[in-house]
Amino acid sequence: MAFERFAHRIPHDAPGTVTDLVFFRAGPADAKKKVYLQAALHADEQPGIMVIHHLLPLLQKADADGALNARFVIFPMVNPLGMDQIHFQVHGGRYDDRSGTNFNRKWPDLYKETGKRIAPKLTDDAEENVRIIRETVKSWLDSLDPGPALHKLRHFVMTEAYDADYVLDLHCDNEALNHMFVTPDSMAELTELADWMGSAAQLTAEDSGGGSFDEVWPSLWTRLRAAHPDKPIPFSAVAATLEYRGSADVFDDLGQRDAENLVGFFQSKGLIAGTPARTPEKAPEPTPLNATQIVRATRPGLLAYRVALGDTVEKGQPIADLIALDGPDAFTARTPILAGTSGRVLSRKLTKYVVPGDSVAKIVGTEPLDERGEYLLED
Ligand SMILES: [Zn+2]
Repeated sequence: MAFERFAHRIPHDAPGTVTDLVFFRAGPADAKKKVYLQAALHADEQPGIMVIHHLLPLLQKADADGALNARFVIFPMVNPLGMDQIHFQVHGGRYDDRSGTNFNRKWPDLYKETGKRIAPKLTDDAEENVRIIRETVKSWLDSLDPGPALHKLRHFVMTEAYDADYVLDLHCDNEALNHMFVTPDSMAELTELADWMGSAAQLTAEDSGGGSFDEVWPSLWTRLRAAHPDKPIPFSAVAATLEYRGSADVFDDLGQRDAENLVGFFQSKGLIAGTPARTPEKAPEPTPLNATQIVRATRPGLLAYRVALGDTVEKGQPIADLIALDGPDAFTARTPILAGTSGRVLSRKLTKYVVPGDSVAKIVGTEPLDERGEYLLED
């Protein structure tokens, strides 16, 4: 048994400045399964830090009781570089200052980097293949020499996540109900998590186009399985982005409940011993991410919502009015913004001043939408 705190020092790009990336390990070192959790990769999204604040003592107790059947690696605040982005009293946290890179985009394509090296090594033994695939990924990681602090941070995080059976990345929306972004292969393994989370929507995409952290891991296994149907390759990296409501929803009661629900999920999978305290309600069926409409503003204005989170709307129904802020009808005219699909209102915008292109709401429909194209993320 072990419940330990670690700090990994990352030099900043500016001389003389460093950051300590703190993380925890729990559970028996020789456990067969590994669970990797992180929060606040988008550093402006802190509900996940609160969830992990409440999860850590639960894991510590389970560890002391000998109830952990998996190794847990937890980064409660995985992006200290983003936490440091306070400019003129406003916290950024979503984009790297130097490169403009969204902290949750452009993670390496593991299949592209390692697929060719893995192919000739595959055997007819499933367990051996899992070992070979992970070993090849690790040796690729070991061959890298990351330069900028952003890449140093990403590299270290990947060396802790590469052999995890479960990778859970805790985020939040602007103002939203709990939901998940997940690949279809991972979704098949995470039905219980959706139930335990009280997830209002599980939005599935094989490839959302952005190279987000949660897609890196399952994508490798899904594509290896497709490329080598003659070899036994168990799908071995179940991952998801967990959206814990909106950015302002950082409260003890929510964090405590969400942490207990994660424990319930881990118990349901046998990763923590014990019977779950209750049976959660069933979450709705997953829907394709390209069936969720991102309603966007087409002119500047002030939003006046007509719908609340969780409301069901029909295509063509006004979901908000946009109060004009310029032109001859400024401050008097209201232009309705219409739903482009039928479904449930999953998210809204916390601040109400919008300019063209701003996301106003997400509506979870069931029919794929032509307008969504290849790139499915909101950014
Ligand atoms: Zn995020």
